[in-house]
Amino acid sequence: MAVLSKESYALMRQCLNLPAALAAVELLSNEAELRYGSFYPVGDMIVGLRYHKPGKGSGRKAFGRTLKIADGRIIPTPYADVNITPSRVPHHVEHGFGYWHINDEQEMSIRLQLEDGRRATMLLEGFPQAGRKDRFAWYCMRCLTPLYMGEIETGRVGLPGFWLAEEKATLEFNADLQLRTCRECGWQHPLGYSWFEAHDTPEQATARLKW
Ligand SMILES: [Zn+2]
Repeated sequence: MAVLSKESYALMRQCLNLPAALAAVELLSNEAELRYGSFYPVGDMIVGLRYHKPGKGSGRKAFGRTLKIADGRIIPTPYADVNITPSRVPHHVEHGFGYWHINDEQEMSIRLQLEDGRRATMLLEGFPQAGRKDRFAWYCMRCLTPLYMGEIETGRVGLPGFWLAEEKATLEFNADLQLRTCRECGWQHPLGYSWFEAHDTPEQATARLKW
């Protein structure tokens, strides 16, 4: 005769009270814009929302292509409704952030058309658990020789630590012409720049337009 094991009983009890069980996102609400403006934890994921207002400039320069390094070359990803980046695939958004992001987590972005005419992009990835690392990397864009990389354990320092490490790696890369010069082919990499356009030096602002 089947019996309910102690372990099954304990698990079933535990399932009654999981955090974020009632998470739902109403895209047109101010609450969603505020809560998910950066990233917000939901269960085992973190969720972000980026709203795009047609016509009205957000103050940011328009993003260019999303590039990935795959099959040993730089490939522009197609402009699509859903984009998935498996873990550790280096990716870069032109004019958005000036490095190759290498994430231990898989990332997913979903493009949404809202009823009020705006578009939104929903970003999904795994919650930064202990040991999870993010990297800010630069490759020679001619021959893909690795040039420099900063690394942070996001699972330990959280998102504020992530953003600090991003700026630190960018400063280190920019401070040393030798780091930016490919030891294989001699190509000189443009300066890096962070996600925060408002922090750009004049030289970084120029680099942001380039790549
Ligand atoms: Zn090179």
